Amino acid sequence: MRILSDIYHVSVEIVDATDEKIWLAAVSQAGAVLLETPSNPLMKLIDIEKTVQAAHSHKAPVIVDNTVATPLNQRPFDFGADWVVHSTSKYLNGHSDMIGGCAVSKKALLPQQRNIHKNLGGTVNALDAWLVLRGLRTFNLRMERHNQNGRAIAEWLSSRTEVLRVYYPGFSSQIQAGIFEKQMKHGGSLLSFELAAGEKGANRFLDRVNLITHAVSLGGVESLAVRPAKSSHRGMNPEARQRAGISDGLIRLSVGLESIEDLLTDLSQALT
Ligand SMILES: *Cc1c(COP(=O)(O)O)cnc(C)c1O
Repeated sequence: MRILSDIYHVSVEIVDATDEKIWLAAVSQAGAVLLETPSNPLMKLIDIEKTVQAAHSHKAPVIVDNTVATPLNQRPFDFGADWVVHSTSKYLNGHSDMIGGCAVSKKALLPQQRNIHKNLGGTVNALDAWLVLRGLRTFNLRMERHNQNGRAIAEWLSSRTEVLRVYYPGFSSQIQAGIFEKQMKHGGSLLSFELAAGEKGANRFLDRVNLITHAVSLGGVESLAVRPAKSSHRGMNPEARQRAGISDGLIRLSVGLESIEDLLTDLSQALT
């Protein structure tokens, strides 16, 4: 599907990034490409290498938002990306106590890029920079646990009758398993699932969780759950949301570092 709209006087063409033919055709006409893979909240994957080839054929730079995947699970530079951007508020800091971001270029910044950086003032303050550096010391250990917990919960949810579908990178139910194997090492700890009981079931679930907190954000030590239809995708009208696959019974779960037994106990009591 192609929708043309006008956002901030920039004409935008919305294409389905999982339809490779349409995606690569759109990319090869772009001036620059900014992509997020896996996508939030349906964990759709985009082939970074093929995107880079199509974009570079017209000298368009490719910028990958690697916040959800993290550098431990996916390394966009290995597939030719020009820039990698991260919210450092999520897994890199890991403790949900600062807000920041970074843009990493494979090449040294040009004088003009340095000027933009200096003049726009996008510089993190000293305490927040220190918090990220402290968080990064345990990044590897935290990610190992995030990956284990995320996969275990995705598998457990898939076996539940209350759950219609689980969205988790690398799952065999995901048609894009080939892309996962090519560019990702692990599935991470962000996942979504659709409850058979729809909106009512999703609200009931969020009311009942104890260990898991009903709150936005992701990538911290604590597990957080939200309903995308009422949070990240609230601004879309219901038809557009439906088309995008964001159902009223969809829950997004950021799995934290708690013990897997405690998490499954909480999920189990909240679902039944
Ligand atoms: C949270 C998030 C951002 C924005 O980061 P902030 O730290 O909230 O400014 C950007 N991209 C992705 C994929 C995110 O999850």
